[in-house]
Amino acid sequence: MFDVVVVGAGLSGAVMAREFAESGKRVLVIEKRGHIGGNCYDEKNEYGILVHRYGPHLFHTDNKEVVEYLSRFCDWELYQHRVLASIDGMLVPLPFSFASMRKLFPQALARKLEEKLLARFSYGQKVPILKLREADDTELRFLADFIYEKVFLHYTLKQWGITPEEIDPEVTARVPVLVGTDERYFTDRYQMVPKEGYTKMITKMLHHLNIALMLQTDAKEILRLVDGKFQLFGKDFTGVVVYTGAIDALFDYRFGKLAYRSLDLVFETLQTERYQEAATVNYPNDYDFTRITEFKHIHKVDSPFTTILKEFPKPCGEKDEPFYPFFDETNRKIYEKYAALAETFKNLILVGRLAEYRYYDMDDAVARALEVFKKVFQR
Ligand SMILES: Cc1cc2nc3c(=O)[nH]c(=O)nc-3n(C[C@H](O)[C@H](O)[C@H](O)COP(=O)(O)OP(=O)(O)OC[C@H]3O[C@@H](n4cnc5c(N)ncnc54)[C@H](O)[C@@H]3O)c2cc1C
Repeated sequence: MFDVVVVGAGLSGAVMAREFAESGKRVLVIEKRGHIGGNCYDEKNEYGILVHRYGPHLFHTDNKEVVEYLSRFCDWELYQHRVLASIDGMLVPLPFSFASMRKLFPQALARKLEEKLLARFSYGQKVPILKLREADDTELRFLADFIYEKVFLHYTLKQWGITPEEIDPEVTARVPVLVGTDERYFTDRYQMVPKEGYTKMITKMLHHLNIALMLQTDAKEILRLVDGKFQLFGKDFTGVVVYTGAIDALFDYRFGKLAYRSLDLVFETLQTERYQEAATVNYPNDYDFTRITEFKHIHKVDSPFTTILKEFPKPCGEKDEPFYPFFDETNRKIYEKYAALAETFKNLILVGRLAEYRYYDMDDAVARALEVFKKVFQR
């Protein structure tokens, strides 16, 4: 019946399913949750406010091909994300920049630090905090230590349970110090959100005559690995299996479990038009949550209510959602064993953040799926 089985109806699975369907293949998409969209899933709550069930999702990219591809399935609302951090009782823009220094320090000191930064780095440069900490100049060192302590250290401890030094440098580099005044959180060329939300966009991607969708079905129930071969509904399946779920689960954790960080996501709806100044406010040093996001900033709506989300990080237990891969040497090695095993299956394609055990932003996930599909077709 089917030429291709796609496990997971998140963004990666949806792109792969769509591409195969458009190339004339009959595709079965299997999704264990009761909805499509993976972690990008959004929905209108009872107050008519569009909320992101698995944490705030902001689309930003420099990749025009990805924008053009997704534009086939949605109209966009231009939106540039702003994040403030609560530091010493003040709200200052993130990434930490000249604008943040001007809010926190006496003006003469802020100006002096700006000059010192400009003498060393170029205007607009994004400097990872660990690199800034290598500065030998006393005042720059003071600045680096201040930012490290007030912006990074306690946030990272909350988010990851370890210090910035212990974490993969790719992660800390994602929130750099900005040598400049741009107060936007992202500086990518394209920053927007789908006008009707991510779920509607992904629904359109999956809406194709060649695509059948099964929700609330763990792939394990119908797709089995028997003697190194796949069986679908109990019969040998020689078509392509695109797997976007967790790679360790696919192989029954035989080399051990890969570690993730998870989040308790706590939504609150309040009877007030506005809760906070920016879409997201980070609390690096206070409380147990890392940040609060107010969705009305992202998706404008006229309502006397507003919905906010507090994120409480935690290790990923049995019943928790695996949100962020926990990169360290041990887990990297475990992943490599699974990846090598996966290579031995000719008809298996692993794609997406869980299958590749990588943090992918949405644009990366789309670009990666398109690239993988092209490679399959060249085979
Ligand atoms: C808290 C958070 C915030 C984020 N914010 C942003 C942001 O602001 N901007 C941005 O660009 N990106 C953001 N991302 C990243 C974004 O979520 C990912 O890029 C995107 O979800 C990747 O899609 P995916 O399909 O690879 O994975 P997923 O969305 O995880 O989809 C995988 C799907 O596979 C299903 N599945 C797994 N195993 C099975 C199985 N055995 N059987 C059937 N189905 C299965 C899962 O239920 C899930 O629906 C964020 C991620 C998180 C966790």
